[in-house]
Formats: sequence, C-alpha cells, structure tokens
Amino acid sequence: MSQLLDGLVVKEQSGFFWVRLEEGKVYTCRLRGRLMEEAQSSDIAAIGDRVKISVMDDGTGSIEEVMPRVSVLSRSARTEGSRGAGQAEREHVIIANAEQSFFVFAAAQPAPSLKMLDRFLAIGEKSEIEKLVIVVNKIDLADREKTGEAFAPYVKMGYQVLYTSALYGDGVDQLRELLKDKISVFTGPSGVGKTSLLNAVQPGLGRAVKEVSQRREEGLHTTRDSELIRLDAGGYVADTPGLRQLTLWDVEPEELDGYFIDIAPYVSDCRFNDCTHLNEPGCAVRQAVDRGEVSRARYQSYLQLREELEEAYVLY
Ligand code: GDP
Ligand code: ZN
Repeated sequence: MSQLLDGLVVKEQSGFFWVRLEEGKVYTCRLRGRLMEEAQSSDIAAIGDRVKISVMDDGTGSIEEVMPRVSVLSRSARTEGSRGAGQAEREHVIIANAEQSFFVFAAAQPAPSLKMLDRFLAIGEKSEIEKLVIVVNKIDLADREKTGEAFAPYVKMGYQVLYTSALYGDGVDQLRELLKDKISVFTGPSGVGKTSLLNAVQPGLGRAVKEVSQRREEGLHTTRDSELIRLDAGGYVADTPGLRQLTLWDVEPEELDGYFIDIAPYVSDCRFNDCTHLNEPGCAVRQAVDRGEVSRARYQSYLQLREELEEAYVLY
C-alpha cells in the first residue's frame, strides 16, 4: 500500500469526505471498507476528524484510519433498525475535535435566552470542547451595564463573555484573534447577528457559512452535508444549525449536575449521593443557591433540563 498521509476532514457530502493535508492539498475520499465493517454506534468519520489516507492511482483518496477524538459535539439520531427491528438511538457527530465553541446571543432584538445558553453550555461541557465563549452581540442596542449584570454569573463561573457589535465593530478584532488557527463552532438562535459578525471578521465569511447550513437544512434527514470554512488567517469555522434542536446525547439524568460547572463543586457535599437537588434534605446545591453562591436562574435551568432528560429516559 502507498504511504499514508495525515489530513483533516474539512467537508462531508453524500458519503464522500474532503481531506485536507497540512500543505493545503485536498483529496476527495471514501471510507475504507474495513472501517465500515464493525458495528458503529457513532459516525466513523466527520468534519474535524484527523485521518490517515492513502491516495489511489486516479487521484482520489481512501480513509484508512481515524484518530481518536479529543472532543465530540453530537446529537442523537433515531434510525430505523434494519429489517424493521424498530428504532435505534445512535450518535450523530456534528463535528469532531472542535477546540472552541462560540454561543452567540443578542443583547437585544431578540432578548437573550439564558435557558438556551445554559443548555448550550451543558452540551459544550459534555462534548469536552476546551473553550466555551459566550458572545453578546448587538451591544449597541442595549445598556452595557445592565447587559453586564445579566451575564455576570457566567463570568464568575469562568466563561469568557465577549460583547460585540457587528454594526459598529466593537469586539470584532478580539473575535478575529480568538478564531485564528482554531477549529471553532459558531452557533446561536437566528437573527442574533452570526452572519454579520463573521462577515465583519472576514468579508464573505458569514455568507459562506450560511450557504452550508442552508444546503443542509434543505437536504434530506439522512443526508450528511457539512463543512469547515477556512479562515484567511488560519483556522476553521463551522456553523451547526443542528445545535438548536440539540438533545444532550447519552447523558444520564444523574450526570447532568457535572456539566453545570457552578453546581458541580457542591454535589459531593449533598447528604445523599444520589441527590437530585430538587427536594432532598441536606442538599448542598440548594444551600449554595440560598446563600447566593449559585444563581437561582442557573439552578432552575438545571432542574428543567434534568426533567427533560428524565422524560426522555422513560421512552427507552
Ligand atoms: P443571524 O441569523 O444570526 O446570522 O443574524 P444576521 O447576521 O442575519 O443579523 C440579523 C439582523 O440583525 C440583521 O438585520 C443585521 O443587520 C442585524 N444585526 C446584526 N448584528 C448587529 C449589531 O451588532 N447591531 C445591530 N444593531 N444590528 C445587528
Ligand atoms: Zn443535592
């Protein structure tokens, strides 16, 4: 076999993978059959995967090996089991090895949904993406001080909060600097200014990302179609509309408190080690909320997400 080359999966469409080598050459690849033989509960390859390819005589490539993933952003996909065996739950990888995720909201128009932010953050923690950044755009439309108060609990937890205005350019240089040389996820509800912000970072970038997501939304359920958009300065951005309906993949209700980084440190002090933090006596989490050390809104987000997870579990 020819020599194996190291590359990055930058695009996936209809069973083909575009793999970019370090020096910039891109090969259209298929998965080696051997990789597909084992029963898979997760996608074998996805954008962001580091792979080893061999190049065929006709200039196409074959993915021979997929390196272990450092982070996985995924959602569960229900697939029809073969031979009508009913539905099976499987992991659909939205992006592998993302190094940072930007959760974009608007300071106003539309008002930020902190419940949605809390869900994103829990998903981000679960995915093991190293850096989670909260972007508050349209800061020109809101009172800076009031907005700062709303996001203060997140700063206290250790998340970076970046205030931006795509319209006036505030924070755009910092955003560009953060994006450089990294694989980033950029997501948030529609209308908050994601496209405008990316266009401010690099002309045309927002449009390029949006075209990918629209293609995907128009596609069939089963059609995988995703892409990392390369930045002129180095690095990649993926917009992932799938995140908006994201469920927490494979999270047991009992694990959820571990993904709320402000709540997690108190859990081991609860009297019962299976404490749900809802109404048990001796709950250290509720005491922390009462003392003001954990924000009440965050606690309520935790309870709400936990209830959703428990309802989901009844189905299985
Ligand atoms: P997306 O759906 O998140 O990609 O949002 P868009 O980039 O399409 O922006 C939605 C609307 O918000 C557009 O009318 C933009 O002109 C406007 N917009 C985006 N960023 C800002 C901003 O920082 N300030 C103000 N005032 N308007 C903005
Ligand atoms: Zn408790």
